[in-house]
Amino acid sequence: MAQCKLCNITSSYISKELGVCLKCIREKPGDALPLATQAHRRSRFAFGLPESPPEDPQGLPCNVCVNKCRIPENGVGYCGLRKNEGGRLTGVSPEEGKLSWYHDPLPTNCVGDWVCPGGTGAGYPEYAYSSGPEVGYKNLAVFFHACSFNCLYCQNWHFRRETLRPYTTSVEKLVSDVDKKTSCICYFGGDPTPQLPFALKASRLALEQNKGRILRICWETNGSMNEVLLDKMIELSLSSGGCIKFDLKAWDENLHVALTGTTNKRTLKNFSRVGEKTKIRPIPPLLIASTLLVPGYIDEKEIRGIARFIASIDPDIPYSLLAFYPHFYMSDMPLITKALAMGCLRAAQEEGVKNVRIGNVHLLV
Ligand SMILES: [Zn+2]
Repeated sequence: MAQCKLCNITSSYISKELGVCLKCIREKPGDALPLATQAHRRSRFAFGLPESPPEDPQGLPCNVCVNKCRIPENGVGYCGLRKNEGGRLTGVSPEEGKLSWYHDPLPTNCVGDWVCPGGTGAGYPEYAYSSGPEVGYKNLAVFFHACSFNCLYCQNWHFRRETLRPYTTSVEKLVSDVDKKTSCICYFGGDPTPQLPFALKASRLALEQNKGRILRICWETNGSMNEVLLDKMIELSLSSGGCIKFDLKAWDENLHVALTGTTNKRTLKNFSRVGEKTKIRPIPPLLIASTLLVPGYIDEKEIRGIARFIASIDPDIPYSLLAFYPHFYMSDMPLITKALAMGCLRAAQEEGVKNVRIGNVHLLV
């Protein structure tokens, strides 16, 4: 239960840390966003991360993601990975990254499991080892320890404790864990975006070392990357039978900024860019969309906007609505009701998306 600092309404659907309600974010963004920005700054300060993307005109440019940091001498980029030391960017590189990984037996609970080769056998025999779920095979889940967004409800917020630690891992060390029973590699986090040069290099090495057999390259991302890097992701996933899973977090730009700290414009543009390629390999689907149903903030109106956008690109793009669990700076929020989730599902179908489902059904109340 919290009160909106603008309209004074009290509700369990208002986040205490965010401090503003959905209506005020939509109708009075000029007043609401500065309050949201304060919440983002607090949440980043707590982990020693830059409170906003550095914009030093004399600073070193980093063009990996939408934030386009200009990093001052001795400063760190927004994601926390790259430091300007004497005019050189240090920290991570295409050879060294900040990440951890584990094997997950297939079928696993990835965002694409209901349509992907590992979960369903889609694309068999070219892209899957079996005509059903790939039992006996494994996914190599690669968790990157940094992000280009700052979602106040982050479902994997613990990575922030690792971002600034002085350690790195090599491409070779990661790839040496791709064994014969690994049929897919999925990059997530955090987000793969800030470390795409590393992920692309690791993927190429893994594919080279596993020539002649199925090894799919998959991604779960906020979609905020530089489009040159995105094109390389598309190439790898298209040819390997992998999928690119975009989390479309909010339709309204102001709401997106309030929840994630960042614009949604690059993400939507990039989603369309991958969407141009979906007909090249319809099965298994190259592109999959998801949206977390954040109570009080992501409502039917948001889902309609996102669904209309997806349908306009390709109505066959699978769309997963994910049930919320209270985490991080929105740990005071309730779970999503079945009725609300079903309303969103119907709304997405009405807007023309053919394949919609609700994930994490066990979290609905
Ligand atoms: Zn309000």
